[in-house]
Amino acid sequence: MTVLRLGFEPLKCVACGLCETVCSLNRDSTLTPMSSSIILHVEDKADYFGLVLKTQDEGLVVARPEGQGGEQGAGSSGPGAKPILLREPCDLCGGDPRCVKVCPTGCITVVV
Ligand code: SF4
Ligand code: SF4
Repeated sequence: MTVLRLGFEPLKCVACGLCETVCSLNRDSTLTPMSSSIILHVEDKADYFGLVLKTQDEGLVVARPEGQGGEQGAGSSGPGAKPILLREPCDLCGGDPRCVKVCPTGCITVVV
């Protein structure tokens, strides 16, 4: 069986937030970033943002402009958002990742 996972090129991200918004459609049939498996992480520094993905097998994967790696506890979608450790991990939308389709810059890709 082919194993898919998501890959990121953080420097392509324009912080539109579409990926985390569309993620909720996978489980909840609603458009909200509050419980998505992927989080757009924005810091106060100008033009600094990255992505945090909760995976089933690799824990949290953090993709920031400096590169990609694993890290605990990062990411927030603002007040009222569910902490990422309480969220469902990414299930790749059952094999057809919506975030990959919706990302306008090709920042998120499927890696086989
Ligand atoms: S592949 Fe699906 S479940 Fe995983 S982060 Fe993207 S939209 Fe969410
Ligand atoms: S959809 Fe793409 S460009 Fe937009 S926030 Fe997500 S990764 Fe960044």
